[in-house]
Amino acid sequence: MKRTNTCPKCGSSDVITDAKAIDRVDNGALSVSTFRKPDAAVFKGQLTTTMSAWVCADCGYLELYADSPKSIKVPAACKTCGYLLAGLHRCPECGTVDPVAAR
Ligand SMILES: [Zn+2]
Ligand SMILES: [Zn+2]
Repeated sequence: MKRTNTCPKCGSSDVITDAKAIDRVDNGALSVSTFRKPDAAVFKGQLTTTMSAWVCADCGYLELYADSPKSIKVPAACKTCGYLLAGLHRCPECGTVDPVAAR
């Protein structure tokens, strides 16, 4: 829907793009998280991105998209020290610049 700008349910091209999904509780943008270390008791390494909604103006069908899906992708580890990097270009642990080995 985001790429096609066409509602997958009714075929309408009258799509409201990039609407912000607002959490009623704190008026913050709705977000989604992953965890780098889901098994850890305390520091789970939460990764969060806000979400935006694409809404069909005809039938009301709604799709949610993460604003920066790459930021919740569990990151690669530093090639020098193994620190898990959240899209960082410099390892905060050992100072290696561009620490993720090319894939
Ligand atoms: Zn529709
Ligand atoms: Zn490092």
